[in-house]
Amino acid sequence: MRQKQIKGLDLKELADICLMQDVPLFRSKQIYRWMYRHHIDDISKMNNIPESLRDYLKENYIINTLEIENIQESKCEDTKKILFKTHDGKLIESVSMIDKKLHTVCISSQVGCSVDCQFCATGIMGFKRNLTSGEILDQVIEISKLRGKAITNIVYMGMGEPFLNYNEVMKSADIIHDHNGMNLGRNRITISTSGILPKIKQFIDEKRGYKLAVSLNATDDKTRTEIIPINKKWNIQMLIHELEKYPVDKKNMVMLEYVLLKGINDSIEDAEKLSEYANYLHCKVNIIPFNDIGNRYKRPDEDTINEFIAILHKNQKYYQTLVRWSKGLDIDAACGQLSTNTL
Ligand code: SAH
Ligand code: SF4
Repeated sequence: MRQKQIKGLDLKELADICLMQDVPLFRSKQIYRWMYRHHIDDISKMNNIPESLRDYLKENYIINTLEIENIQESKCEDTKKILFKTHDGKLIESVSMIDKKLHTVCISSQVGCSVDCQFCATGIMGFKRNLTSGEILDQVIEISKLRGKAITNIVYMGMGEPFLNYNEVMKSADIIHDHNGMNLGRNRITISTSGILPKIKQFIDEKRGYKLAVSLNATDDKTRTEIIPINKKWNIQMLIHELEKYPVDKKNMVMLEYVLLKGINDSIEDAEKLSEYANYLHCKVNIIPFNDIGNRYKRPDEDTINEFIAILHKNQKYYQTLVRWSKGLDIDAACGQLSTNTL
Protein backbone atom coordinates (compact mmCIF):
# COMPACT_ATOMS: atom_id res chain seq x y z
CA MET A 1 0.00 0.00 0.00
CA ARG A 2 1.24 3.51 -0.87
CA GLN A 3 2.01 5.51 2.26
CA LYS A 4 0.15 8.74 2.91
CA GLN A 5 1.66 12.01 4.17
CA ILE A 6 1.13 12.59 7.88
CA LYS A 7 2.76 16.04 7.63
CA GLY A 8 0.02 18.48 6.74
CA LEU A 9 -2.75 16.77 8.69
CA ASP A 10 -4.59 19.08 11.08
CA LEU A 11 -5.70 18.27 14.63
CA LYS A 12 -9.07 16.98 13.50
CA GLU A 13 -7.57 14.60 10.95
CA LEU A 14 -5.07 13.33 13.52
CA ALA A 15 -7.94 12.87 15.99
CA ASP A 16 -9.73 10.74 13.37
CA ILE A 17 -6.69 8.47 13.19
CA CYS A 18 -6.70 8.16 17.00
CA LEU A 19 -10.40 7.30 16.96
CA MET A 20 -9.87 4.63 14.32
CA GLN A 21 -6.96 3.18 16.27
CA ASP A 22 -8.90 3.33 19.50
CA VAL A 23 -6.36 5.47 21.35
CA PRO A 24 -7.20 8.53 23.49
CA LEU A 25 -7.69 11.79 21.61
CA PHE A 26 -4.93 13.62 23.46
CA ARG A 27 -2.47 11.59 21.39
CA SER A 28 -3.45 13.64 18.34
CA LYS A 29 -2.21 16.83 19.98
CA GLN A 30 1.05 15.12 20.92
CA ILE A 31 1.66 14.00 17.34
CA TYR A 32 0.71 17.47 16.10
CA ARG A 33 3.20 19.13 18.41
CA TRP A 34 5.98 16.71 17.49
CA MET A 35 5.59 17.62 13.83
CA TYR A 36 4.86 21.32 13.86
CA ARG A 37 6.35 22.55 17.12
CA HIS A 38 9.38 20.25 17.50
CA HIS A 39 9.96 19.59 13.79
CA ILE A 40 10.69 15.92 14.38
CA ASP A 41 11.63 14.07 11.17
CA ASP A 42 11.18 10.48 12.33
CA ILE A 43 8.01 8.95 13.77
CA SER A 44 10.20 6.68 16.00
CA LYS A 45 11.37 9.80 17.85
CA MET A 46 7.86 10.62 19.14
CA ASN A 47 8.88 9.16 22.47
CA ASN A 48 5.71 9.85 24.47
CA ILE A 49 3.56 7.97 21.94
CA PRO A 50 2.94 4.25 22.64
CA GLU A 51 5.02 1.99 20.46
CA SER A 52 2.02 0.26 18.91
CA LEU A 53 0.66 3.59 17.65
CA ARG A 54 4.10 4.62 16.38
CA ASP A 55 4.37 1.33 14.49
CA TYR A 56 0.97 1.86 12.95
CA LEU A 57 1.92 5.38 11.85
CA LYS A 58 5.27 4.23 10.43
CA GLU A 59 3.60 1.52 8.39
CA ASN A 60 0.96 3.79 6.95
CA TYR A 61 2.47 7.28 6.75
CA ILE A 62 5.59 9.12 5.69
CA ILE A 63 6.59 12.18 7.68
CA ASN A 64 9.09 13.95 5.40
CA THR A 65 7.66 15.21 2.14
CA LEU A 66 10.68 17.13 0.75
CA GLU A 67 14.40 16.67 0.30
CA ILE A 68 16.84 19.55 0.00
CA GLU A 69 18.39 19.27 -3.47
CA ASN A 70 20.50 22.42 -3.55
CA ILE A 71 21.19 25.63 -1.62
CA GLN A 72 22.40 28.85 -3.20
CA GLU A 73 23.76 31.69 -1.10
CA SER A 74 23.71 35.34 -2.04
CA LYS A 75 27.04 37.15 -1.81
CA CYS A 76 25.41 40.49 -1.13
CA GLU A 77 23.05 39.73 1.76
CA ASP A 78 22.00 36.93 4.07
CA THR A 79 19.63 35.36 1.55
CA LYS A 80 19.51 31.69 0.56
CA LYS A 81 17.50 30.03 -2.17
CA ILE A 82 16.62 26.43 -1.39
CA LEU A 83 15.71 23.93 -4.08
CA PHE A 84 13.51 21.10 -2.79
CA LYS A 85 12.60 17.82 -4.43
CA THR A 86 9.20 16.22 -3.82
CA HIS A 87 8.66 12.45 -3.66
CA ASP A 88 7.47 12.39 -7.23
CA GLY A 89 10.61 14.18 -8.42
CA LYS A 90 9.16 17.68 -8.81
CA LEU A 91 11.39 20.64 -7.98
CA ILE A 92 10.23 23.73 -6.07
CA GLU A 93 12.06 26.72 -4.64
CA SER A 94 11.82 28.73 -1.43
CA VAL A 95 13.80 31.74 -0.27
CA SER A 96 15.03 32.56 3.25
CA MET A 97 16.00 36.18 3.95
CA ILE A 98 17.59 37.26 7.21
CA ASP A 99 17.83 40.97 7.89
CA LYS A 100 18.76 41.90 11.45
CA LYS A 101 15.93 40.57 13.64
CA LEU A 102 13.71 39.58 10.73
CA HIS A 103 13.74 36.15 9.14
CA THR A 104 11.32 36.13 6.22
CA VAL A 105 10.64 32.93 4.32
CA CYS A 106 9.05 33.02 0.88
CA ILE A 107 7.31 29.74 0.11
CA SER A 108 5.82 28.06 -2.95
CA SER A 109 2.22 26.86 -3.16
CA GLN A 110 2.29 25.04 -6.51
CA VAL A 111 4.80 23.42 -8.85
CA GLY A 112 4.73 26.02 -11.63
CA CYS A 113 1.67 28.18 -12.20
CA SER A 114 -1.22 28.29 -14.64
CA VAL A 115 -1.93 32.03 -14.50
CA ASP A 116 0.58 32.72 -17.25
CA CYS A 117 1.74 36.22 -16.28
CA GLN A 118 4.07 37.25 -19.07
CA PHE A 119 6.72 38.81 -16.81
CA CYS A 120 7.12 35.88 -14.40
CA ALA A 121 9.52 32.94 -14.69
CA THR A 122 7.14 30.60 -12.84
CA GLY A 123 4.31 31.54 -15.22
CA ILE A 124 6.48 30.73 -18.21
CA MET A 125 7.27 27.22 -16.92
CA GLY A 126 3.52 26.38 -16.82
CA PHE A 127 1.52 24.44 -14.25
CA LYS A 128 2.63 21.01 -13.00
CA ARG A 129 0.61 20.35 -9.84
CA ASN A 130 -0.62 21.73 -6.53
CA LEU A 131 1.52 21.25 -3.43
CA THR A 132 0.01 19.47 -0.44
CA SER A 133 -0.25 21.27 2.90
CA GLY A 134 2.56 18.95 4.11
CA GLU A 135 4.84 20.06 1.29
CA ILE A 136 4.06 23.70 2.00
CA LEU A 137 4.78 23.23 5.71
CA ASP A 138 7.96 21.24 5.09
CA GLN A 139 9.50 24.21 3.27
CA VAL A 140 9.09 26.21 6.47
CA ILE A 141 10.23 23.37 8.75
CA GLU A 142 13.33 22.49 6.70
CA ILE A 143 14.38 26.14 6.44
CA SER A 144 13.87 26.68 10.13
CA LYS A 145 16.17 23.70 10.86
CA LEU A 146 18.71 24.75 8.24
CA ARG A 147 18.98 28.34 9.43
CA GLY A 148 18.64 27.74 13.17
CA LYS A 149 16.98 31.14 13.45
CA ALA A 150 13.34 31.65 14.37
CA ILE A 151 11.16 32.58 11.41
CA THR A 152 9.39 35.90 11.94
CA ASN A 153 7.45 36.24 8.67
CA ILE A 154 6.05 33.92 6.04
CA VAL A 155 5.07 35.13 2.58
CA TYR A 156 3.21 32.97 0.06
CA MET A 157 5.02 34.66 -2.81
CA GLY A 158 7.14 31.83 -4.20
CA MET A 159 6.13 29.61 -7.09
CA GLY A 160 2.43 29.31 -7.82
CA GLU A 161 -0.90 31.03 -7.27
CA PRO A 162 -1.95 30.36 -3.64
CA PHE A 163 -5.64 31.01 -4.32
CA LEU A 164 -5.73 28.28 -6.97
CA ASN A 165 -4.69 25.87 -4.20
CA TYR A 166 -6.89 27.51 -1.56
CA ASN A 167 -7.64 24.62 0.80
CA GLU A 168 -4.08 23.33 1.15
CA VAL A 169 -2.73 26.87 1.50
CA MET A 170 -5.23 27.76 4.24
CA LYS A 171 -4.61 24.49 6.03
CA SER A 172 -0.87 25.18 6.07
CA ALA A 173 -1.35 28.81 7.16
CA ASP A 174 -3.66 27.71 9.99
CA ILE A 175 -1.01 25.29 11.28
CA ILE A 176 1.72 27.95 10.98
CA HIS A 177 -0.51 30.29 13.00
CA ASP A 178 -1.85 27.82 15.59
CA HIS A 179 -0.32 28.13 19.07
CA ASN A 180 0.24 24.37 19.19
CA GLY A 181 1.78 24.56 15.73
CA MET A 182 4.34 27.19 14.78
CA ASN A 183 2.64 29.97 16.73
CA LEU A 184 3.19 32.81 14.29
CA GLY A 185 0.82 35.83 14.46
CA ARG A 186 -1.78 36.19 11.70
CA ASN A 187 -0.31 39.49 10.59
CA ARG A 188 3.07 37.84 10.06
CA ILE A 189 1.65 35.61 7.35
CA THR A 190 1.05 37.20 3.91
CA ILE A 191 -0.76 35.56 1.02
CA SER A 192 -0.25 37.08 -2.41
CA THR A 193 -2.68 36.55 -5.27
CA SER A 194 -2.77 37.62 -8.88
CA GLY A 195 -6.49 38.35 -8.38
CA ILE A 196 -8.54 35.13 -8.25
CA LEU A 197 -11.75 36.97 -7.39
CA PRO A 198 -13.99 34.17 -6.01
CA LYS A 199 -11.22 33.13 -3.63
CA ILE A 200 -10.52 36.71 -2.52
CA LYS A 201 -14.24 36.86 -1.69
CA GLN A 202 -14.07 33.60 0.24
CA PHE A 203 -10.93 34.74 2.09
CA ILE A 204 -12.61 37.99 3.17
CA ASP A 205 -15.93 36.29 4.06
CA GLU A 206 -14.15 33.68 6.16
CA LYS A 207 -12.32 36.47 8.04
CA ARG A 208 -9.06 34.57 7.74
CA GLY A 209 -7.08 37.50 9.11
CA TYR A 210 -3.86 36.75 7.23
CA LYS A 211 -2.38 39.65 5.32
CA LEU A 212 -3.62 39.87 1.76
CA ALA A 213 -1.47 41.10 -1.11
CA VAL A 214 -2.95 41.57 -4.58
CA SER A 215 -0.75 41.89 -7.66
CA LEU A 216 -2.38 44.80 -9.46
CA ASN A 217 0.56 45.51 -11.78
CA ALA A 218 -1.35 47.84 -14.13
CA THR A 219 -3.90 50.65 -13.86
CA ASP A 220 -5.97 49.99 -17.00
CA ASP A 221 -7.61 46.78 -18.15
CA LYS A 222 -5.99 46.70 -21.56
CA THR A 223 -2.47 46.64 -20.10
CA ARG A 224 -3.41 44.35 -17.23
CA THR A 225 -4.99 41.79 -19.57
CA GLU A 226 -1.86 41.88 -21.71
CA ILE A 227 0.43 40.98 -18.82
CA ILE A 228 -1.99 39.01 -16.57
CA PRO A 229 -4.44 37.14 -18.85
CA ILE A 230 -6.95 36.33 -16.05
CA ASN A 231 -7.79 40.05 -16.01
CA LYS A 232 -10.17 39.25 -18.87
CA LYS A 233 -12.32 37.37 -16.35
CA TRP A 234 -11.75 39.41 -13.20
CA ASN A 235 -10.86 42.99 -14.10
CA ILE A 236 -9.52 45.92 -12.10
CA GLN A 237 -12.95 47.36 -11.18
CA MET A 238 -14.13 43.97 -9.91
CA LEU A 239 -10.99 43.61 -7.78
CA ILE A 240 -11.25 47.12 -6.31
CA HIS A 241 -14.92 46.56 -5.57
CA GLU A 242 -14.11 43.37 -3.66
CA LEU A 243 -11.15 44.86 -1.82
CA GLU A 244 -13.37 47.68 -0.51
CA LYS A 245 -14.84 45.06 1.80
CA TYR A 246 -11.49 44.25 3.37
CA PRO A 247 -11.53 45.71 6.88
CA VAL A 248 -9.33 48.78 7.16
CA ASP A 249 -6.99 48.12 10.03
CA LYS A 250 -3.61 49.83 10.36
CA LYS A 251 -1.89 46.57 11.27
CA ASN A 252 -3.48 44.56 8.52
CA MET A 253 -4.06 46.62 5.38
CA VAL A 254 -4.47 45.14 1.92
CA MET A 255 -1.27 45.45 -0.06
CA LEU A 256 -1.36 46.31 -3.76
CA GLU A 257 1.73 44.94 -5.47
CA TYR A 258 2.93 46.71 -8.58
CA VAL A 259 5.78 45.33 -10.69
CA LEU A 260 7.31 48.21 -12.65
CA LEU A 261 7.86 47.27 -16.30
CA LYS A 262 9.65 49.62 -18.65
CA GLY A 263 7.33 51.35 -21.11
CA ILE A 264 4.37 49.18 -20.05
CA ASN A 265 3.03 50.47 -16.73
CA ASP A 266 5.59 53.05 -15.56
CA SER A 267 4.11 56.34 -16.84
CA ILE A 268 3.20 59.40 -14.78
CA GLU A 269 -0.49 58.72 -15.54
CA ASP A 270 -0.06 55.20 -14.15
CA ALA A 271 1.43 56.59 -10.94
CA GLU A 272 -1.43 59.09 -10.60
CA LYS A 273 -4.05 56.41 -11.19
CA LEU A 274 -2.37 53.98 -8.80
CA SER A 275 -2.43 56.60 -6.05
CA GLU A 276 -6.14 57.19 -6.71
CA TYR A 277 -6.89 53.49 -6.20
CA ALA A 278 -4.69 53.39 -3.11
CA ASN A 279 -6.24 56.48 -1.50
CA TYR A 280 -9.64 54.98 -2.17
CA LEU A 281 -8.76 51.62 -0.60
CA HIS A 282 -6.61 52.90 2.31
CA CYS A 283 -4.02 50.25 1.60
CA LYS A 284 -0.29 49.65 1.24
CA VAL A 285 1.39 49.95 -2.13
CA ASN A 286 4.39 47.80 -2.82
CA ILE A 287 6.42 48.85 -5.84
CA ILE A 288 8.63 46.06 -7.20
CA PRO A 289 11.08 47.15 -9.91
CA PHE A 290 10.99 44.29 -12.43
CA ASN A 291 13.62 41.56 -11.99
CA ASP A 292 15.06 40.32 -15.25
CA ILE A 293 14.00 36.89 -16.50
CA GLY A 294 15.65 37.18 -19.89
CA ASN A 295 12.58 37.93 -22.00
CA ARG A 296 11.18 41.04 -23.67
CA TYR A 297 10.39 42.90 -20.45
CA LYS A 298 12.86 45.32 -18.90
CA ARG A 299 13.22 47.25 -15.66
CA PRO A 300 12.65 51.01 -16.08
CA ASP A 301 15.75 53.16 -15.58
CA GLU A 302 16.37 54.55 -12.13
CA ASP A 303 15.08 58.06 -12.91
CA THR A 304 11.74 56.70 -14.11
CA ILE A 305 11.43 54.49 -11.01
CA ASN A 306 12.24 57.42 -8.73
CA GLU A 307 9.80 59.71 -10.50
CA PHE A 308 7.05 57.09 -10.22
CA ILE A 309 7.72 56.71 -6.50
CA ALA A 310 7.87 60.49 -5.99
CA ILE A 311 4.34 60.83 -7.43
CA LEU A 312 3.09 58.12 -5.09
CA HIS A 313 4.64 59.94 -2.14
CA LYS A 314 3.21 63.28 -3.26
CA ASN A 315 -0.34 61.92 -3.49
CA GLN A 316 -0.15 59.78 -0.37
CA LYS A 317 -3.11 60.55 1.91
CA TYR A 318 -4.58 57.27 3.04
CA TYR A 319 -1.97 54.74 1.97
CA GLN A 320 1.63 53.78 2.58
CA THR A 321 4.25 53.28 -0.10
CA LEU A 322 6.97 50.64 0.08
CA VAL A 323 9.59 49.89 -2.52
CA ARG A 324 10.85 46.34 -2.73
CA TRP A 325 14.38 46.39 -4.04
CA SER A 326 14.48 42.62 -4.20
CA LYS A 327 16.90 40.48 -2.26
CA GLY A 328 18.81 37.58 -3.76
CA LEU A 329 19.05 39.04 -7.27
CA ASP A 330 22.51 37.49 -7.77
CA ILE A 331 21.08 33.99 -7.24
CA ASP A 332 17.81 34.54 -9.16
CA ALA A 333 15.90 34.37 -5.87
CA ALA A 334 14.07 37.67 -6.29
CA CYS A 335 10.33 38.06 -6.95
CA GLY A 336 9.23 36.30 -10.10
CA GLN A 337 12.56 34.63 -10.79
CA LEU A 338 11.72 31.22 -9.35
CA SER A 339 11.46 28.47 -11.92
CA THR A 340 12.49 24.84 -12.15
CA ASN A 341 12.57 22.64 -15.17
CA THR A 342 11.58 19.07 -14.47
CA LEU A 343 8.78 16.82 -15.61
N1 SAH B 1 1.08 34.12 -7.65
C1 SAH B 1 1.08 35.12 -6.67
C2 SAH B 1 2.27 35.07 -5.74
C3 SAH B 1 3.61 34.77 -6.34
S1 SAH B 1 4.34 36.02 -7.33
C4 SAH B 1 0.95 36.50 -7.30
O1 SAH B 1 1.11 36.61 -8.51
O2 SAH B 1 0.66 37.43 -6.56
C5 SAH B 1 4.82 37.23 -6.11
C6 SAH B 1 4.98 38.64 -6.68
O3 SAH B 1 6.07 38.71 -7.60
C7 SAH B 1 3.76 39.13 -7.44
O4 SAH B 1 3.38 40.42 -7.00
C8 SAH B 1 4.25 39.21 -8.88
O5 SAH B 1 3.55 40.21 -9.60
C9 SAH B 1 5.70 39.53 -8.69
N2 SAH B 1 6.56 39.18 -9.84
C10 SAH B 1 6.40 38.17 -10.72
N3 SAH B 1 7.41 38.18 -11.63
C11 SAH B 1 8.21 39.22 -11.30
C12 SAH B 1 9.44 39.73 -11.85
N4 SAH B 1 10.04 39.15 -12.89
N5 SAH B 1 10.00 40.81 -11.26
C13 SAH B 1 9.42 41.37 -10.16
N6 SAH B 1 8.30 40.91 -9.59
C14 SAH B 1 7.69 39.86 -10.16
FE1 SF4 C 1 1.66 32.75 -11.24
FE2 SF4 C 1 2.08 34.85 -9.60
FE3 SF4 C 1 3.85 34.22 -11.53
FE4 SF4 C 1 1.48 35.22 -12.19
S1 SF4 C 1 3.09 36.26 -11.01
S2 SF4 C 1 2.49 33.46 -13.17
S3 SF4 C 1 0.18 34.29 -10.66
S4 SF4 C 1 3.34 32.99 -9.77
